[in-house]
Amino acid sequence: MKQQYNPYDNVLKVVDHAASMLGYKEKEYAILKYPERELQVSMPVVMDDGSLKVFEGFRVQHSTARGPAKGGVRFHPGVNHDEVKALAAWMTFKCAVVNIPYGGGKGGIICDPSGMSERELHALTSKYTAAIAPLIGPEQDIPAPDVGSNAHVMAWMMDTYSMLKGHSVLGVVTGKPIGLGGILGRNEATGRGVMFTINNLLKKENRPIEGTSVVVQGMGNVGSITAKLLHRQGMKIIAVSDVSGGVYDPNGLDIPGILAYLSGGKNLLKDFDAPGINHISNAELLELDTTVLVPAALENQINGENAERIKAKYVVEAANGPTTLEADDILQARGIKLVPDILANAGGVVVSYFEWVQNIQELCWSEERVNSELKNIMDTAFEAVWEIAEQRDTTLRTGAYLISVKRVVEARQGRGVF
Ligand code: GLU
Repeated sequence: MKQQYNPYDNVLKVVDHAASMLGYKEKEYAILKYPERELQVSMPVVMDDGSLKVFEGFRVQHSTARGPAKGGVRFHPGVNHDEVKALAAWMTFKCAVVNIPYGGGKGGIICDPSGMSERELHALTSKYTAAIAPLIGPEQDIPAPDVGSNAHVMAWMMDTYSMLKGHSVLGVVTGKPIGLGGILGRNEATGRGVMFTINNLLKKENRPIEGTSVVVQGMGNVGSITAKLLHRQGMKIIAVSDVSGGVYDPNGLDIPGILAYLSGGKNLLKDFDAPGINHISNAELLELDTTVLVPAALENQINGENAERIKAKYVVEAANGPTTLEADDILQARGIKLVPDILANAGGVVVSYFEWVQNIQELCWSEERVNSELKNIMDTAFEAVWEIAEQRDTTLRTGAYLISVKRVVEARQGRGVF
């Protein structure tokens, strides 16, 4: 029987590989294989029909070696413990590769937010925040949005935590609404970071931006904004998808039209129609002939089953963990270059960092400043990863881990064993 995919095993193998290339002995980095602290919580919620439903959730702090734990909270029916552990570990290495002073953490609640009312979601969020309150705080662990959560949810988390403390604590979460300590540009930050990454990649490969074809899987915050920004700079977005399936037009899609159609939050792409549109499945979308493929949905999308059939020249991981290790090897052997999640999608946490700095220092940055500081950080990190991957004749994923594992191990060593 085929072994079930475990994203945490995936992370450990990547870390092992980078650590051995760095010449570390097992005992020097063994700590990175164990999350520092984990909490499993259950939240009873009175549903709108009067029934009582018990939800389960997690908060995992993978590492605080370089600073407070940082990472989003996922609201999704498929959330599980190993997934949250993997997502927390990816945050540790993501923050390290872009060199912001954070460790990594992640939370998750097993729920389907699309099938819940506003009141039910509010109650669930407040219960979850109260349950994890002993672990979080601006100096300990700072949650943020992830799949299925948003600025609205962050406002509820901030409110619950503040009620427990007896005063407003803006810096306990990032990704908040602008009027509540949020920062201009945070909503677009992950997609904007993906755009900077794609631009850096195309430049290195001597390819134009204008007219280059792109396929985007996922129309959540990251996928939709990535598609919007890439389209705006003249790239040809030939296919996009959401949970219901994808739409494809080899001549390029009308992205503003599609985003307007999706903006109410209730419409699905399977019901979208326009001249030239072909409806395809998510599996077909991943295998389209395109220059750039941007998986911006969930983990395990490009795997041993389909990697041989991927026709893209470049894969830029806007989601966390969309490509399995087995697929990594296949893509590499086939000459397909991949920019890893911990680098490509770091824009969100970078601007979360600016938001947190803004909150604890009680100042306010302009959107131009946010975007230009974000660009600096993304460009610097891309250059460093590209360079080390060339020097060591390895993939960009391994390059990103060579940098980040070294930073985390050195922080751990510098602190000594408590
Ligand atoms: N959920 C996002 C990520 O996976 C953002 C995390 C944050 O801003 O803390 O990177």
